[in-house]
Amino acid sequence: MTRLYDDPSSFAQDALAGFLDANASYVSGVPGGAVRARVPRAGKPAVVVGGGSGHYPSFAGLVGTGLADGAVVGNIFTSPSSDAVYSVATAASVGGGVLLSSGNYTGDVMNFTQAAERLRDDGIDTRLVFVTDDVASAPVHEAGRRRGIAGDFVVFKVAGAAAEAGYVLHEVERAARLANDRTRTFGVAFAGCTLPGQDHPLFSIARHKMGVGLGIHGEPGVSEDDVPRAAELARLLVDKVLRELPADQDRVAAILNGLGSTKYEELFVLWRSVSSLLTRAGLKVIEPEVGELVTSLDMAGCSLTLVALDEELEALWRAPADAPGYKKGSLPVVGAGTPRRGQDRRVTELPGSSAAQSVPSVSRESQRAARTVLAALEAMAAALKGAEDELGRIDAVAGDGDHGRGMSSGVRGACAAVALVVDQGGGLRAALEAAGDAWASTAGGTSGALWGAALRAAGEHLDDEREVQAMAVTAEDVAEDAPDGKAVGAAPAAIAAFRAAIAAITRLGHAEVGDKTMLDALVPFVDAFESEVARGVEWVEAWRAAAAVATTTAQATAALRPLVGRARPLADRSLGTPDPGAVSLALCLGVVAEVLRRSVNGPSSR
Ligand code: ADP
Ligand code: MG
Repeated sequence: MTRLYDDPSSFAQDALAGFLDANASYVSGVPGGAVRARVPRAGKPAVVVGGGSGHYPSFAGLVGTGLADGAVVGNIFTSPSSDAVYSVATAASVGGGVLLSSGNYTGDVMNFTQAAERLRDDGIDTRLVFVTDDVASAPVHEAGRRRGIAGDFVVFKVAGAAAEAGYVLHEVERAARLANDRTRTFGVAFAGCTLPGQDHPLFSIARHKMGVGLGIHGEPGVSEDDVPRAAELARLLVDKVLRELPADQDRVAAILNGLGSTKYEELFVLWRSVSSLLTRAGLKVIEPEVGELVTSLDMAGCSLTLVALDEELEALWRAPADAPGYKKGSLPVVGAGTPRRGQDRRVTELPGSSAAQSVPSVSRESQRAARTVLAALEAMAAALKGAEDELGRIDAVAGDGDHGRGMSSGVRGACAAVALVVDQGGGLRAALEAAGDAWASTAGGTSGALWGAALRAAGEHLDDEREVQAMAVTAEDVAEDAPDGKAVGAAPAAIAAFRAAIAAITRLGHAEVGDKTMLDALVPFVDAFESEVARGVEWVEAWRAAAAVATTTAQATAALRPLVGRARPLADRSLGTPDPGAVSLALCLGVVAEVLRRSVNGPSSR
């Protein structure tokens, strides 16, 4: 149970503000996260780590000497947006390039990769390392698809120590990859965690049972078993990890990690057996960590991480570090470096993506279309608010339960940005682009990145002066532009924009129809829309019919096993539950159909 909060929806930001205040000698707030309070030596590669909140001391607690230079802080269990990653990385960079590192989750991979592209465009050499230590999340022949859990810490520690020791960027990257290649984790969960403001945990386990092969985002284990005695659990953990650990070394680093509410004493009892099993296996354990390094809110559980150390990794593992949430050895001066100037201790919001931009002047039709986009987004916001809990519930079945919250905050961000565009007389293209940028920035996560990219791509595809002329969406437009009462150009323009959106989603997520994602609603929608239009159906009615198809295909994803995304390791559990991203998309398409119908036919018809 998470008992202490003010506004549950701002829990992550409120926690970050308190953390920054309490650790002002170590860290400064920047938009999107935290950086070291003192600027490291010029030319040092910056190690920027990150992910969702709920994992303390990961990630912000690891900002300090010998560890990270910056941490990007997302909402609870939600990847930070690419804007946030870019913002923190820019603030942390001191001329030696940037290493970005996070766990290997779809949302983090998308957002960190997009930020890296922007940093490189700015001339900042940027490398990416995604951690894949969790042996339970994919078989060995698909090791690249594994997720990052407590092994995140190993990779961050090694990269941070390497950068502190004077390695140049590509050497820091090499060391971080080496650490990832030689790190394996396996864990168990005894009880699920509860999001702030919620009454029920994201998953529950019967008394005396445990989830085997845990995730760190409230995902349940991949299977269930009886809770054994500590000595027996030690054997299970050691067996699972050793089976996959490179066997060419006899020295290992170890982390026995608590997930949030397993007591330190319990961990020490367990460690007693783990340690003797490792010794019996002929391994020498180097400076083990027994405690909480990568948590999952108040989840009860633990995991064992082993690192097959070569000489270089051992030196980097042993190197001193001094961060708010992790201290090791002794460093000459706490927080060495010059004080950072002009930074606030408090977190500052990311600037609204389109707020300050001026919009190009466009035709009256395009301005009207922008107003319709705003009306559509507002209707979507109301519908998503109503569906927030249910979307969270179906996301929690095999994912992390954040989909409802993410969609709600994304669409609210989009509404605010588009309202500004409309106020400034902007058109359809500017409205959709602003909606996309703001959605991605405020929501974060996988769906935030994908909705953001899709809306932006749709907007970029619509030429304000040519296509929008034809894309009449109000009764007035229909009368003006198409004397026969039908806005004939609207459907082809909309179809092309939708196809551009699908291409953007595919480019970013590499998913296909049938993988159990939002594409299982979007692609059937566009296909149905196109064929309805080809049959001569008026386009708003065609949209409505296609939205009904999307609702059906979204529900039909219940029969599918997820092949991508956070739910993939728990594919069996997901059977019988529809994909949350497909359900929310179908909901939005249906709501927009209604807005378009009212817009074209007037509120009183049908
Ligand atoms: P996260 O998985 O980061 O918690 P959300 O819960 O907000 O993100 O969104 C999950 C949804 O994102 C899934 O239900 C699915 O529809 C969609 N999704 C996940 N991965 C992909 C992908 N590779 N391509 C397209 N859609 C995806
Ligand atoms: Mg989710």
